Amino acid sequence: MKTSIIGYPRIGNLRELKFASEKYFRGEITAEELEKTAKLIRSYNLEIQKKSGLDLIPSNDFSYYDGVLDTAFLLNAVPERYTALGLSELDTYFAAARGYQGEKGDVKAFAMKKWYNTNYHYMVPEIDDSTEIKLAGTKPFDLFTEALGSGVKTKPVVIGAYTFLKLARFKGNKKAADFATQTAAAYSELLSRFNGLGAEWVQFDEPSLVMDMTAEDIQLFVSLYESILKNKGAVKVLAQTYFGDVRDCYKELCGLGFDGIGLDFTEGKRSAELVKKNGFPQDKVLFAGVVNGKNIWRNSYASSLAVLSELEKHTHDIVINTSCSLLHVPCTLANETKLDERYKKHFSYAEEKLTELAELKRIISSSCPAETEEYRRNEALHSEPRTGGNEAVRKKVAALTEKDFVRLPGFAERERIQKERFRLPEFPTTTIGSFPQTAEVKSARNAHRKGELSDSDYEFFIEKKIAECIALQEEIGLDVLVHGEFERNDMVEYFGECLDGYLFTEKAWVQSYGTRCVKPPVIWGDISRAKPMTVRWSVYAQSLTDKPMKGMLTGPVTILNWSFPREDITLKESALQIALAIREEVLDLEANGISIIQVDEAALREKLPLRRSDWREDYLDWAIPAFRYVHSGVKPETQIHTHMCYSEFADIIKDIDDMDADVITFEASRSDLTILDVLKENHFRTEVGPGVYDIHSPRVPSKEEIKSAISKMRERIPAEKLWVNPDCGLKTRGNEETVPSLKNLVNAAKEARNENS
Ligand code: GLN
Ligand code: ZN
Repeated sequence: MKTSIIGYPRIGNLRELKFASEKYFRGEITAEELEKTAKLIRSYNLEIQKKSGLDLIPSNDFSYYDGVLDTAFLLNAVPERYTALGLSELDTYFAAARGYQGEKGDVKAFAMKKWYNTNYHYMVPEIDDSTEIKLAGTKPFDLFTEALGSGVKTKPVVIGAYTFLKLARFKGNKKAADFATQTAAAYSELLSRFNGLGAEWVQFDEPSLVMDMTAEDIQLFVSLYESILKNKGAVKVLAQTYFGDVRDCYKELCGLGFDGIGLDFTEGKRSAELVKKNGFPQDKVLFAGVVNGKNIWRNSYASSLAVLSELEKHTHDIVINTSCSLLHVPCTLANETKLDERYKKHFSYAEEKLTELAELKRIISSSCPAETEEYRRNEALHSEPRTGGNEAVRKKVAALTEKDFVRLPGFAERERIQKERFRLPEFPTTTIGSFPQTAEVKSARNAHRKGELSDSDYEFFIEKKIAECIALQEEIGLDVLVHGEFERNDMVEYFGECLDGYLFTEKAWVQSYGTRCVKPPVIWGDISRAKPMTVRWSVYAQSLTDKPMKGMLTGPVTILNWSFPREDITLKESALQIALAIREEVLDLEANGISIIQVDEAALREKLPLRRSDWREDYLDWAIPAFRYVHSGVKPETQIHTHMCYSEFADIIKDIDDMDADVITFEASRSDLTILDVLKENHFRTEVGPGVYDIHSPRVPSKEEIKSAISKMRERIPAEKLWVNPDCGLKTRGNEETVPSLKNLVNAAKEARNENS
C-alpha cells in the first residue's frame, strides 16, 4: 500500500506566512520578500514530507489566503471591481481577499463562510451572468514545476468543478448548471496541461459530495465529470471527498472515469458500509482516509488496520490517506516545549501524522502486523489508562435523567415572576458582555502572565476597570449592566483555564481564515470545575450598582466546539461534563446574589452536522439538553440569557426556543431581518434582543438608525418581549466609538418607549 495526504498546513511552523503577509499588508516588506517566505514554507513542507517516506505528496495546497479564492482566480471568476483597480496580480488577489481602500478605489472583499463543519473559513466566489469561466491562472502548474525542480513529482490538488460551483454565489439569473460546459472545459484544459507536464496524479477535492444531494446536484456532478474525464489522457484523476460519506452519489462516483476515489473513514459514518454493500470498482484506487486530519490524537493502528483489512476484502488497490487536509491541525509537536511528555505522546500534529502514515504502511506490509514494534508501541499507548479520569463526574453524567434537563416552572410563569422582580422599562437596554479590550487591559494581562504584575496588583487593576465600566454604563443609562470581561483573553480559554481536564498548547496554531489562526485548547480528561471562575468579579461588580448585573459565562456547546475534543468518549458525554461544571458556576452566582446570568452559546450552530438527517441524533438531541442542564436548577426569579453570534437559525428555530432561556440576544443588524419573520411565524417564546447595530465595524450608528431598527423589530416582536442591545460583545472596539454608539442606543430605546406608551 502507498501513502498519501490531502493537503498540508501552509501557514508555517511558527506562522511565518501570517507574519510575512501582515508585514506586506502594512507595506513593510516587498512582494518578493513575501514570496520568498512562501517558497521557504513550501520547500520545508516538501522536504519533511519527502523525508517521511510519503508516496503521494500534494502540491498547490499552498495558498496566500485561501484555496477557494485561488480557484476563483484560476478559473477567471474575478469580479470586475477587483481587476478594475489596476493593481498587480498579487494585490488584486489580496483586494478580493481583504477588500481594498486606497488611492485606486474602495471595494469590499469576497464574503467569507465556514468551510463545511470546520473552523476554517473560505472566500465565497462570485459568479454573475457575464462571468466567463476559463483557465486563467498558472499557480497549480507553477507549484508542480517548482516541486519537480526539487526532485518530487507531486500530486497537484485543485478544488473540484462540482464543489467550486456549489460554493459559488450566483449574482445574476444564471445558475450553476449554466456554467457547467465552460467549467468542464476549463478543468479539461487543466488536465491536459498536467499531462503535458508529466503529472501522474491530479487530485480534485469534492467535499460537497458528502452533503445532502438533490437529483439535480447529482446530474450536475455527473455531467461535469463525464465531460472533464472524457479525453483526460494518461494523467490519473482522483476524486477526493472528506468530512463525511458520499451516500447520495456513491454509485455515480464509482461509475465515472476516475482513477482514484478518496473516501473518509473517520467522519464518514457510512463509508465502510457503502463499500461493503456496493463493492468498489476494480479499475480504481481507493484512497482510504483513516488518519484523522481534524484532531490531534495519535492514530489507533488497531482501528486503522481493522478498517483497511475490511476494505481489502473488496478491493486490492488501496492508498492509506488522511481523512481530510492537515490544514485543520497544527504543524508540529516539536514546538510544544512546555507540554509534559506524558501528554505529548498522545498527540499527533501534521508532521507526526506523516510518521503515522509511514508506520501504518510498514506495519501493513509486514507478514505479522500485530507483532511489529510500531504496532505494539501504539497499542500500549492506547491501552494506557488516562490520567485525568474523574469517576465522580462520570457517575453524575450517567445518573442524569429527563427531569434534570427541565427547568420549572415553565416559561410563561417565570416571565411573569421576573417582570415583577426586575420591573425593567419597556425595551430594556443591555450589552452582550465585553467592553473594549484596550491596549492598557492587554498589557496588564501580559505583564501578569509574565509575572511582572503580582496577582494582587492585577486583581486590583481588573477591579478598577470594572468600576470604570459600571460608572460608564450608569452614565449612559443602560438598564442591565455587565462587568466588562476585562479578566478574559478569550471566552473559551478563560474557562478552560479554570476547569480541570483541560490542556493548553504553546504553538498549536490552526488557520481560521487568511492570516488569522486559532489555538484551540485540548480536552484531555474528564472536566470538572476546579474553582469558582467568575463569581468574585460578578459579585464585586454587583456591589457597585443597584441595577441588575449580568453574570457572564460561556456555554458547554461553545466550549466544546472551540476545543480539540476527546476521541475516547462521545461529544455528548464531553458536553454534559462541561455542562455540569458550568451549572455549578451558575448556581454559585445565583447563591451570591446575581439575578441575571448570561450563558453564551456563540458557536452552537457551528457543529451542526452537514446532513440534515443527522442533525437531531448526532447533535441537537444532546447539545440543546446540555444547555438546558446548565440552568435547569435556578430559581424562577433568576433570569437566564443566552447569546448567539449569528441569526442563521431559522431552520433550528424550535430548538433555539427549546433551550428554554428567558432571553436571547443575537446578531441581526447585518442580516436582512428575515429572522424576525421566522420568530413571529413560529411564535417564538423566548424574549429577544436582535442586535440593533453591527459591532464589527467602527462606524457609530445614529440614534435614528437604531430607532428605525427598533421599529422594524416592533412590527414582528411583541413589545414585552423585545430587548435593545448591540449585536455582539464590544471587546474588539475602541471606547471612541463604543461610548457614542451606546448613548445613541439608549436614547433610541427611550424614544421608542415614549412613542409606544
Ligand atoms: N459575552 C461575550 C462578549 O461579549 C460574547 C462573545 C461572542 O459572542 N463571541 O465578548
Ligand atoms: Zn456574539
